[in-house]
Amino acid sequence: MFFIGIDDTDSRSGQCTTYIATKLAEKLSRYTVISELRLVRLNPTVPWKTRGNGAVAILAKEKNIEKLKKLTLREIELNAMFDDRGTNPGVVFYAGEIPQDFTDFYHRCLHRIVEIREAEVLAEKYGAEIVKYKNGRGIIGALAAIGCKFRDFTYELIAYRKKDNWGKKRRVDKHSVFVMNAKTYPFTFDNVDYSTNRVLITPNTPCPVLLGIRGERVGILYQALEMLNIKEPIDTFTVFKTNQATDVHLERVNEIKEIKEFSSVILRGRVKKKPRTIRGGHVFFELTDGKTTILCAAFEPTKDFRKIIVKLIPGDEIEVYGSVKKRTINLEKIRVIRLVRYEERNPKCSICGKSMESVGKGKGYRCKRCKTFAKEKVKVKVNREIEEKFYEVPPAARGHLSKPLIRFCGLVA
Ligand SMILES: [Zn+2]
Repeated sequence: MFFIGIDDTDSRSGQCTTYIATKLAEKLSRYTVISELRLVRLNPTVPWKTRGNGAVAILAKEKNIEKLKKLTLREIELNAMFDDRGTNPGVVFYAGEIPQDFTDFYHRCLHRIVEIREAEVLAEKYGAEIVKYKNGRGIIGALAAIGCKFRDFTYELIAYRKKDNWGKKRRVDKHSVFVMNAKTYPFTFDNVDYSTNRVLITPNTPCPVLLGIRGERVGILYQALEMLNIKEPIDTFTVFKTNQATDVHLERVNEIKEIKEFSSVILRGRVKKKPRTIRGGHVFFELTDGKTTILCAAFEPTKDFRKIIVKLIPGDEIEVYGSVKKRTINLEKIRVIRLVRYEERNPKCSICGKSMESVGKGKGYRCKRCKTFAKEKVKVKVNREIEEKFYEVPPAARGHLSKPLIRFCGLVA
């Protein structure tokens, strides 16, 4: 197999690495057989990348390799956004079996911040050819995309616009997207967000992407595309195999002290303090593992998810899933394991019914006015409005790698 990894050819103001890969694959297919187009999302916390930290790989039959390389570099040189300061394209070519070191590198790129040097050392060791443009940071993602071995995976069908329409409003009938979703969900997912009545398959960037439909199988994606009422011409479309919606970025940690900045974790603990909402609508609470605590956050864009979070109380045992930035876990989902059902409260006065006050630590409780006395606190059943199950952010707030609960087999409550 011949692998072509490409990354960092686009910018916030335009282009899209998947589009360059799609156009390139069309050209390469005259000289070889393309067996896979791959879209690999990497560490979502990387500071210099947008939310979509993604690289692509093209897998082809080892045929006319020199021609394939030449066409690849020409395509990138013609189309990458070189003028953008933050765009530093990188290409990696590799022929043969993928070494385990490449796959380990892919996983490091999901969980850590990786240096360009690490990619160079590995490429050198295994004879992969790297091509750097500007600072060449793109070789990191390019090598990671080559090293990726899928355990879980999904597909995304991406349709592109004619160049004249780039930057203009996308003309995809909203109603037809909801109909398509109703007919194909859960074999496609995250097409729409019901809570905000929003269509999610069309991006809001000036890039060449008209729409992207995510799903479990290739066939259903073609059917889904057919169901849409699209009022502008499609330039071309292709299906990528992806690590999206798989939670592959998450690492289980046993203790808070193991948590590294810019990683993504699954952590079990207890709610330490009652969640609080700050200005802007962001909700925060502290989680403890019994030794140390860490802040967890449900930011404003997570909308109704915050209504669940504020119902947590100290002592609730939960598992949190999310990325770590500034020592704060940005919640993607939580699993409520055990809720506090009883609370200890000061006893109530048998005469006036008001809460009694403490006389002093271990000295009991009294009502000054009625002169009543009680020795101990009382256990009161707490009315809980949440359940012991998983809760997730709405589709509109979900990161590319985050696995929707609908994809959890047998775990969905
Ligand atoms: Zn009283």
